[in-house]
Amino acid sequence: MKTILVEDPMSESGYKEMVFDLPLNRASGNMYKWVSHTWNPVKGICPHGCQYCNMNNLLLDKYKPILVDDEFRRNLDEAKVLFVGDSIDLFSEAVPMGWIMKVLDHCTMFNDERPEKGHISFLFMSKNPAGMLKYAAHRVFKHAIAATTIESNRHYPEYMGNTHKPEERVEPMAKLSEMGIYTMVSLEPLMDFDLEELVDLIKRCEPKRVVIGKNSNRQISVPEPPAEKVKLLCAELGKFTKVFVMENAREWYDKNIATIS
Ligand code: SF4
Repeated sequence: MKTILVEDPMSESGYKEMVFDLPLNRASGNMYKWVSHTWNPVKGICPHGCQYCNMNNLLLDKYKPILVDDEFRRNLDEAKVLFVGDSIDLFSEAVPMGWIMKVLDHCTMFNDERPEKGHISFLFMSKNPAGMLKYAAHRVFKHAIAATTIESNRHYPEYMGNTHKPEERVEPMAKLSEMGIYTMVSLEPLMDFDLEELVDLIKRCEPKRVVIGKNSNRQISVPEPPAEKVKLLCAELGKFTKVFVMENAREWYDKNIATIS
């Protein structure tokens, strides 16, 4: 449990005590092992509707996005790296600005409170990075990773739902990077692609790191690229950024790709 004294012009003292008595969810580590915890203050069906989304299997009740007040009782201090919104795209057009600001302010409040302990790093991932860009001046991005997914240079609407096309995610990512924000591109789930075009898209995002992942939704299959092509892709990406393999793709990568000479 943690308490923080915050300014409150409505109270006599000018302050009020906020209590954070709920624990954070520990990350399972099957995606990014460097993410320690996850936090989902906005819940409900993600408006992007990616067919491969694992949340499709987990959400029994499909309801519109809601902001959950009780989530603001969680003690973010438990996290080293906190993935904010791993079950719904926080920056999708369906999430109101007031909700997003409340989430970002909440994250910042915890970092402001603990200068001696070092900062919490936040991971924000969106398939609508243009939405994220609107908040890029927020102080939370001093200690955040701004990430997007690029599954392929090709547009596969039957799998990508109603997200923006991959090439439309590039320009806002480049702008976030130009603003000095640490950026990451996730190729998860990687779908069949054209090598030169995909490398070009990713390069233009100016990512500090790229992670490669595989479809992990057993209920659907996506058009996967041949292993040789993935090997070539990794080699090309390695020329300008750091390339990592996601935990849920490690076995596939070691068996099928790392072994190609
Ligand atoms: S954007 Fe992410 S959370 Fe939303 S449907 Fe797609 S995979 Fe799921």
